[in-house]
Amino acid sequence: MSPLVSIEGLSVAFNGVPVLHGVDLSLRKGEAIGLVGESGSGKSVTWLAALGLLPRHARVSGSVRLDGREILSAPAATLDQVRGGRVAMIFQDPASALNPVLTIRKQLCEALALHRDLSGDALKVEARRLLDLVGIPDAARRLSAYPHEFSGGQVQRIMIAMALAGNPDLLVADEPTTALDATIQAQILDLLSQIRREMGMAMVLISHDLGVVAENCDRVAVMYAGRIVEEAPATALFDDPWHPYAQGLIGALPPLDGPRRRLTAIPGTVPDPSKMPAGCAFAPRCTVASEQCGVGAPSLAPLGDARAVACIRAEASRRALLGIAAE
Ligand code: ADP
Ligand code: MG
Repeated sequence: MSPLVSIEGLSVAFNGVPVLHGVDLSLRKGEAIGLVGESGSGKSVTWLAALGLLPRHARVSGSVRLDGREILSAPAATLDQVRGGRVAMIFQDPASALNPVLTIRKQLCEALALHRDLSGDALKVEARRLLDLVGIPDAARRLSAYPHEFSGGQVQRIMIAMALAGNPDLLVADEPTTALDATIQAQILDLLSQIRREMGMAMVLISHDLGVVAENCDRVAVMYAGRIVEEAPATALFDDPWHPYAQGLIGALPPLDGPRRRLTAIPGTVPDPSKMPAGCAFAPRCTVASEQCGVGAPSLAPLGDARAVACIRAEASRRALLGIAAE
């Protein structure tokens, strides 16, 4: 089956400073993939670049195909059609994405009129159905309300309804629940996963929280300093991470059950894009780095079982983690 989206060699530079270094990522119809990494690792830039949403001064190169059609170099009109239509995005701060002076009905109907062949009463009926679908109680009445009359979690539900208005094949959700408290966060993610499965929609879930993506995605790509450093089925990555950075991210997670243990955060911070180390960007923070790691950035190498890792010390690191003696 040909992929729904295929990103190849996607690179981005701002003011001559590269921040994304040849990202490859593909997504099948209906598949949910997670993109995870600390803040500043290039998760948002990857999808903003892919959908033509970066500011003009960004230098973007590579290829992004939607159903085999190149969209990176597509004219603005084509991209307008793609965004909100076949591909929808939701962001971390939902409040800023809604217009405070228009009712929810008006905003939902506008989104529907733009991307669907509906008018008049059919628009209002569909707006109500969407609000129902995302679990807003008393949807018929609540359509006349303004954004400030809803809680943070409800506003995020409305944003999901807006994103679904165009019947998208792909939803890119960038830290959709980061601003919400933990209980609401879990409810919104459950809702997204349920709707996604019912609609057969593909999803990219961007999060700095590996637990969130592992639970809601089929596959996970781990990003560090503008590169994908590991890609694997979600359960495989969670149970047996190969890249020392992925191992660190999992070490920094609170346990799902059992006694609370001390969390081991990864020491240090993501390097500034203008001061990137010569070799592997993670080497300065890595506990198993060798001299070789300072020589060149390792490429993402296939590992079998639909996995890939960009680390020359992955095997050694994994052995150390599992307590297996070196041969
Ligand atoms: P993430 O989403 O993983 O937290 P981003 O993709 O937003 O990270 O950022 C990746 C890098 O690109 C960061 O170093 C960030 O400072 C830089 N960056 C993002 N947007 C811009 C911009 N508009 N201008 C300059 N640098 C940017
Ligand atoms: Mg981001």
